[in-house]
Amino acid sequence: MANSALVLGAGMVGVSVALHLRRRGWDVVLLDRDGPGEGASFGNGGLIQREAVFPHPFPREFSELRRMASNRTVEVAYHPGALPGLAAPLLRYWWHSEPRRYAAAVAGHAALIATCLDEHMALAQGTEAMALMRPIGWMRLYNDQAKLDAALAQAEAARQGYGINYTLLDGAALAAAEPHLKVSRLGAIHFTDPVSVSDPHALTLSYLRRFEEAGGRFARGDATTLERAGSGWRAGGEEAAHVVVALGAAAGKVTQKLGYAPPLFGKRGYHRHFALSGNAVLNRPILDVGSGFLLAPMRAGVRLTTGAEFTRDVAPPTPVQLARAEPIARNLLPLADAVEETPWMGVRPCTPDMLPVIGKLPGQANAWCAFGHAHQGFTLGPSTGRLLAEMMTGEAPFLDPSPYSPARF
Ligand SMILES: Cc1cc2nc3c(=O)[nH]c(=O)nc-3n(C[C@H](O)[C@H](O)[C@H](O)COP(=O)(O)OP(=O)(O)OC[C@H]3O[C@@H](n4cnc5c(N)ncnc54)[C@H](O)[C@@H]3O)c2cc1C
Repeated sequence: MANSALVLGAGMVGVSVALHLRRRGWDVVLLDRDGPGEGASFGNGGLIQREAVFPHPFPREFSELRRMASNRTVEVAYHPGALPGLAAPLLRYWWHSEPRRYAAAVAGHAALIATCLDEHMALAQGTEAMALMRPIGWMRLYNDQAKLDAALAQAEAARQGYGINYTLLDGAALAAAEPHLKVSRLGAIHFTDPVSVSDPHALTLSYLRRFEEAGGRFARGDATTLERAGSGWRAGGEEAAHVVVALGAAAGKVTQKLGYAPPLFGKRGYHRHFALSGNAVLNRPILDVGSGFLLAPMRAGVRLTTGAEFTRDVAPPTPVQLARAEPIARNLLPLADAVEETPWMGVRPCTPDMLPVIGKLPGQANAWCAFGHAHQGFTLGPSTGRLLAEMMTGEAPFLDPSPYSPARF
């Protein structure tokens, strides 16, 4: 019983924590109210983002803020009524995006990101998951010289500071790399290290299979029923000595009951798949920077994913960014029919300092946090799983966990 854990939330993060604990001999039950991997881990861009050493800051230039405030862009949309409730965490997000504080976020983020490919491969190697992993990188397309120059300077800083590999393509090289693009662009930056996953849900399910094969158990249940059971924990009818909150954007609902209320906020995103006309292909994920959306070739079709939407948790889906993006995407690529009737929606679990929350939940014995991975939770699940499992079992952590400490909030 002492070495037992109830992991709440079966997204990429929870599944990875559960698998790492089980491999260390713990009795583990993984609990989710829905099927495994059906939250944000289902519908993301499928990128294992080895290049993402710079987390997404809050824009600080007035022109950019004014553009976002217009509420007409593809990148950002908001429900005005939701803003008062979001003001406090968003103000902190803005504060942490100031250059010196942002440097601390980069240091913490980059340290974790550096491990992402190795940690995914440690779970995927020798299994059917490898068929989903495409070592093709992804590209950012530019049509504005000043933006391309700024992006190049940042890519070069990432190369020199963090060993990130990239290739610069001019318009002709881009057209050769993606011959079915309908428009020309000034150039592109191809990040060559990242892995593009052809079906993100299938990857989470594959790691879940490893967990179950190793003797772990998945159960359905509501994590908000979490309560003390002696010195341990009970939720959804399951009991264990330790609990791990890995509930993505819903984590705050449970931690608040335990007296811990980190300033989390959600950034919603949407996706829809499209067939390509005729024999057209998209060779790798592309983000057209001027348009502000990602197009990724997936098993289900070309996945068009959107940027951030700020709403109340309970607001029904409002995929206005997809509606704005679709005509632009059709100009870019020969898209045919949409695959699904209704767009998918998921929520990125965000923190104001742009770092995830990994470690001991303050004020409670045997309670742990693994959430807040924002734009890179699919990338960072396995690294987080290993780090937290090492902390829980008392091993020396493979990297310094202090930047992610829950106690910082
Ligand atoms: C459009 C979009 C594109 C993205 N692209 C990328 C990308 O290319 N690369 C990348 O690394 N990241 C990407 N992300 C971010 C990434 O998807 C998330 O950071 C990641 O999926 C978070 O994983 P998680 O396990 O923390 O949360 P989730 O996957 O959301 O899992 C949380 C789980 O908790 C469960 N749950 C919630 N409440 C309860 C409850 N009361 N009881 C029981 N269970 C509950 C949910 O059902 C869910 O399964 C993207 C996100 C979006 C929205």
